Amino acid sequence: MIAEIISIGTELLMGQVLDTNAQFLSRRLSALGVTHQRRSTVGDNPVRLKETYAAALGRADVLITSGGLGPTGDDITKSVLAELLEEPLVVREDALARLKERFSRMNRVMPESNIVQAAFTKDSIILPNENGTAPGAIVPCDRFGAGKIVIHLPGPPAELEAMFDASVAPYLQKRSGSALVSRYIRIFGMGESEAETRVKDLTQGSNPTLSPYCSPGEVMLRATALCSCPSEGAAMLAPLVSKVRDRLGDVVYAVEETDGGSLAKTVIALLIDKHQTLSVAESVTGGMLSSMLVSVPGASRVYAGGFITYMNERKEAFTGVRHETLTRYGAVSEPCAIQMAEGALLRAGTDIAVSVTGCAGPDSDERNTPVGQVFAGVAVRGRAYAKALRLTGSRQHIRALACLHALNLVRMELIKGDASALNE
Ligand code: AMP
Ligand code: MG
Repeated sequence: MIAEIISIGTELLMGQVLDTNAQFLSRRLSALGVTHQRRSTVGDNPVRLKETYAAALGRADVLITSGGLGPTGDDITKSVLAELLEEPLVVREDALARLKERFSRMNRVMPESNIVQAAFTKDSIILPNENGTAPGAIVPCDRFGAGKIVIHLPGPPAELEAMFDASVAPYLQKRSGSALVSRYIRIFGMGESEAETRVKDLTQGSNPTLSPYCSPGEVMLRATALCSCPSEGAAMLAPLVSKVRDRLGDVVYAVEETDGGSLAKTVIALLIDKHQTLSVAESVTGGMLSSMLVSVPGASRVYAGGFITYMNERKEAFTGVRHETLTRYGAVSEPCAIQMAEGALLRAGTDIAVSVTGCAGPDSDERNTPVGQVFAGVAVRGRAYAKALRLTGSRQHIRALACLHALNLVRMELIKGDASALNE
């Protein structure tokens, strides 16, 4: 199966809008194992679009279009293809009803001009749009060769991406008779280049593949097998995943079948598994750590809550940090982080408590604490420690990283016991 992408819109040719849809589609096609050999960009011009369709249908089995499904005169994606196929666009009552319902949910009367969004050539499969008005479609184009199709997707990236994942990916997978099975290996506590170096040789394989993806503070490796069924995929991936685990050790905090993992999710799962409860004391992160924890469904089973001790006076009042600790060492210090955690443990009555205090910038504090200096503390009954971190980046980035480090300390405490000796 050979695919081509056609990006439609004069704004793309003018350079006003970057064609991120083509990038998204290219990535998805390659992940699906669909051969993709050519991409075109064409303006909202019927003559040139028709030529582009005809040429591409001569070469490829599947064309994916982006854009031009709106209700205005320059939205010609469907009508030009219909003309080429010499088939009329017919209003589909089911699609029209959904469109009207969408407008009424927004408390608006649907303008006449939107009716074209519910019109398709016969035998088209309509693809629902959960994020906008324009439905997509899979249009049979057998007159260009048995089984050839054009898939129309809307231009706004959020609509196109959701529609592709919900409707097009399963369709293409079924059609190609193959399945794509992935494992998302999530890593925290090892730099991207170090992690990549350790698994370099494993990323050279063609099936299964292993590819690294980086986001702020985290590295994710995706292992993917092109296979005939999920169980075959699982069997192909198991040895690769176990090699990655051997190479990286316990910086691997999750291996999941979908891309929904997070450190907070792992921490909550570990707490549930070990019947432990957690509380927090946050200064520099001001609630962000708590927010990450409660974004995980089911967190209330193990996450008790915590203390936002932003001013020094609240560190004393809420978590019992000693006055002389603050005057002698300052708020951004190991003793302060330890006492914050101890105070949270005692006052929230949990099994574990974690604290974060630091300087996120952009300026140093009155004690000349360097920007990015952060201490994360952990307390369990009878034992407490803090870890010094030197983080870099913007204020928000430093705060987010501080949360991830704090979560990772809790994770290590839960799997290892004492995490105080961990390297940065
Ligand atoms: P359209 O569906 O053609 O009316 O496009 C609606 C909007 O989606 C455009 O104004 C762009 O902002 C955006 N858009 C259209 N095509 C693309 C594309 N290929 N990549 C990214 N954004 C796009
Ligand atoms: Mg357009």
